Amino acid sequence: MNDYKNEINLLNLKSKPIFDIEDHLKYIKDWREQYIGDAIAILRPHNKYEVSKILKFANDNEISIVPQGGNTSLCGGATPLKNSYSLIISTEKMNKIISIDKESLTITSEPGAILSIIHKEVEKKGLFFPLTLGAKGSCTIGGNLSTNAGGINVLKYGNARDLCLGLEIVLPNGDIMDLLKILKKDNTGYDLKNIFIGAEGTLGIITAATMKLFPKPKLSVTCFVEARTIKNAIMLLNIFQDELKSELEAFELMPDVFWEVAANNSDNLSLPFNKIPQMGVLLELASTSTNDSVLNNEGTTFLNEKLEHILSKALDKKLIDNAIICKNELERNKLWEIRENAAENEKKELSKSNAKKCLKHDISLPISNIEQFHKEAQKMISNKIKNTRTIFFGHLGDGNLHYNIFGNGKGDDGFENQSKIITENLYQIIEKLNGSFSAEHGIGQLKRNNLKHFKDPVAYDMMKNLKNMIDPKNTMNPGKILI
Ligand SMILES: Cc1cc2nc3c(=O)[nH]c(=O)nc-3n(C[C@H](O)[C@H](O)[C@H](O)COP(=O)(O)OP(=O)(O)OC[C@H]3O[C@@H](n4cnc5c(N)ncnc54)[C@H](O)[C@@H]3O)c2cc1C
Repeated sequence: MNDYKNEINLLNLKSKPIFDIEDHLKYIKDWREQYIGDAIAILRPHNKYEVSKILKFANDNEISIVPQGGNTSLCGGATPLKNSYSLIISTEKMNKIISIDKESLTITSEPGAILSIIHKEVEKKGLFFPLTLGAKGSCTIGGNLSTNAGGINVLKYGNARDLCLGLEIVLPNGDIMDLLKILKKDNTGYDLKNIFIGAEGTLGIITAATMKLFPKPKLSVTCFVEARTIKNAIMLLNIFQDELKSELEAFELMPDVFWEVAANNSDNLSLPFNKIPQMGVLLELASTSTNDSVLNNEGTTFLNEKLEHILSKALDKKLIDNAIICKNELERNKLWEIRENAAENEKKELSKSNAKKCLKHDISLPISNIEQFHKEAQKMISNKIKNTRTIFFGHLGDGNLHYNIFGNGKGDDGFENQSKIITENLYQIIEKLNGSFSAEHGIGQLKRNNLKHFKDPVAYDMMKNLKNMIDPKNTMNPGKILI
């Protein structure tokens, strides 16, 4: 089989192609180490013209392209298929912030810009970019847009799609499409950029993006509370939504099972209370108003007062048993670190346990149906097999739970060979309760069959037709999203 080494070298790219298989490992394996694929080479273009040259070459020769940003996908989206004839296009050399416009409140950057670097650069200008998630130190804005990432601030600011104003995309045939506007209003026909957001690299490569920025909050107040049930936590959420205009930024569910995993896998974890919290919620209020942040005579702020007022109401209604308000940045960072280490800690827990496998589910439901979902799901799982453990946590304010089931280690799959049916049944419960089996991580390789099964068939066909029209040779990230 032609390895195309000469032809690739003739592309004359600024960074040398990586042909040596030993140097491929970091690119061909996914973050969870569930998938490992093969690539002819790893290419690291420096600009859109190099991307265009590579895509045209791949299209002419029918070679698969796998775009890759930080490689933090949790569903094998950025991993090539096994025995595939692929080129991985890493955006690691396209990591520049092109401009920050303080008046228009926008940032334009290359796709490989790391999310936490964007946060820092924007903050230096007194501004705020709200998209944030546990993988912020490695994931890239191109990957965030391609997965329509969510994270902890969706409640107030929306997901990556809601934050995006413009894109530049290189299409599978090498054409460069310029949709890089910083406009809030632009009704010029179909909104093409939205087709590429959440497309997981199956339609083209994002080579630049313009995103919305916000004034940096003058004050943030972080609080951890203990509710007894999911229902109580939701009633607390409703009080916040009732009493506040827009100050609630995050509302994260961290129940006892979450804390047990955190405690097992962190050095010197300090619990917010003197025991594992039952149905913990980490929440944050933020305000850009000077009134909210000025200290009053009692040495507290108006924003703190608003929070304390809501908490005392919740205590009176017996919705919560305990609450602490962080006194400083250190306390706040400690709590957020515990929340953001969830995926990492779970990975460690699995490697220590005899569970063999963990079934990961990234689901969303109407908030009013979450409690019922949890009850039905637990009943279904215990009817199938005994001695499993469900680690659940997530963005309760968005109705998004990570619902991960550790098996009992029996059978080939660690689930007495019932793992497939458990996930299927779980997704059926979600479908019945008007939820989605894929909330924020994407479809990748992991959920292709589920997408075909659960998506409306007319919509699924339209997705296939669209893919066929934009990428008739199916060179862009084949084997992802669609079957
Ligand atoms: C610890 C941890 C915590 C996480 N928490 C969250 C969370 O809270 N919320 C959330 O939504 N996700 C979360 N994720 C999942 C993941 O981080 C996000 O999906 C992230 O947006 C992926 O960015 P990336 O740069 O790593 O993309 P990659 O993993 O490299 O790629 C993801 C997908 O996008 C495609 N792609 C990448 N760059 C481009 C480009 N320039 N053009 C076209 N296609 C491209 C790839 O082909 C692939 O299909 C988490 C992951 C980890 C490891």
